[in-house]
Amino acid sequence: MSTATVHIPSHDVPVAHECDICIVGGSVTGVFAAVRAARLGASVALVEQNTMLGGTATAALVNAWHSVFDVAKKEKIIGGLLDEVVTRLRSRNAIRDITPIHRDQYNFNAAEMSVELDALLLEHNVRPFLSAKFSMPVMDGSRIAAVIIEDKGGRRAIRARMFIDASGDGDLVRRAGFPAVKHDILQPVSYQSLAYGIEEVRKQNPGVDIWSAVRPLADEFKFPGSNPWFGVVPHTPELSNIFGPRLNGVDASDPDVLTRTLMEGRRISRAFLDMIRKRFGESAAKVVLVAAAPMLGVRETWHAQCLYRMTQDDLLYGKKFDDAVGYGTYPVDIHHPGGTSLLYLDGREELVSPAGGAVWKRWRPETEATPPYFQIPLRCLIPEHAENLLVAGRIIDADKGAYGALRVQVNCNQTGEAAGVAAWQAVSTNVPVHRIDAANVRSLLAKGGSIIR
Ligand SMILES: Cc1cc2nc3c(=O)[nH]c(=O)nc-3n(C[C@H](O)[C@H](O)[C@H](O)COP(=O)(O)OP(=O)(O)OC[C@H]3O[C@@H](n4cnc5c(N)ncnc54)[C@H](O)[C@@H]3O)c2cc1C
Repeated sequence: MSTATVHIPSHDVPVAHECDICIVGGSVTGVFAAVRAARLGASVALVEQNTMLGGTATAALVNAWHSVFDVAKKEKIIGGLLDEVVTRLRSRNAIRDITPIHRDQYNFNAAEMSVELDALLLEHNVRPFLSAKFSMPVMDGSRIAAVIIEDKGGRRAIRARMFIDASGDGDLVRRAGFPAVKHDILQPVSYQSLAYGIEEVRKQNPGVDIWSAVRPLADEFKFPGSNPWFGVVPHTPELSNIFGPRLNGVDASDPDVLTRTLMEGRRISRAFLDMIRKRFGESAAKVVLVAAAPMLGVRETWHAQCLYRMTQDDLLYGKKFDDAVGYGTYPVDIHHPGGTSLLYLDGREELVSPAGGAVWKRWRPETEATPPYFQIPLRCLIPEHAENLLVAGRIIDADKGAYGALRVQVNCNQTGEAAGVAAWQAVSTNVPVHRIDAANVRSLLAKGGSIIR
């Protein structure tokens, strides 16, 4: 990267909007934060760089929500806005329930999800800024006075009393100068796409595993080693939601790396279909790419340094927190060059090879008790030294193992709801974020439909 610089003369920027709470990043996490705060009476703005809401869930075509039950699959542990969105999607035939025998619970239609998120924001009078990129904060000491966005209007400012960074990469936290860290090895990225015609290949070649069949062609098509997998678009078997192979060593918070990887992701998506066409001939004649995700699927970049860093042991041993604002059972799931390692709360351990086969063992003896779920403390959402900033989603403060579980959407989304409620707490009681009354946040979350224990 060049080290040359240009000088931008200082200039005044028009204020586009003033509100109580401004959220940077309009994934499901960001939308849930906005809606929960708005329901309590806050005026809220939300800034999203994409043309649609939903982030990874919609624009990167990662259309799965995992279990909302405890380990025994008896008691529901996640409710809140997730329940409301599931009901809305169900009424449009846009969600598929999966018996939670393994890890998954729902697959949703990403396009329908994005429309529901639009509706949710509008119903709650949240002021959306789409195709609007947050570029820099305006600081007043350690307070954020405003954020500068770049959109079709040029540079504009949004003033707010509280801010939430739900940008995934911690753009606001880092540019505001608050500490953030990256784990030594980042989880890989993957690029998703929609394809037509795979179902026909399956029908005409019963019992054949498509990846195993095309794998010998990988070198010829410059296809990276790990297995892609076929997700579903609910109730639309003609379409396959293809989850791309894991691309290791990619730091998606580096703009040049991001550009290269987006283009490589698209190339790989089509190369995979070319491999299928070559291997299956006539039965794959109709295989075609119908949509390329507008956004790269990023599993991990930065983590804010917060009042507490959740650890793998906290998670796997179900540590109780008096400021718990979320609950989960998803395993510690770490993708790495050697495959995928999963540690389940019930003591099982699964190692999936890059080719896709799984080996099972135990990390904890069967004689030891299994916690029913893990808890997510509010302290992991409060950046150190910040006065009026909270974080939500994958920027949460967690060590490598804990993050492996917290990073999935049912968990990120709960941190969004918690951040929205906590932000309102801070605004309405006029306190800095480290003095937010967690008991009150828990009580408001429960009153608003979240399951709080
Ligand atoms: C390939 C893959 C498979 C996965 N599989 C699953 C799965 O099966 N189930 C599951 O639950 N989870 C899965 N995950 C993990 C999960 O999808 C993500 O961790 C989660 O969606 C992250 O949500 P988030 O809201 O924190 O961040 P993101 O979804 O990354 O949202 C950040 C939002 O902020 C916006 N933004 C960023 N910077 C700016 C800026 N400067 N200005 C304005 N807007 C900005 C982005 O456009 C985006 O909308 C997977 C992830 C990947 C990549």
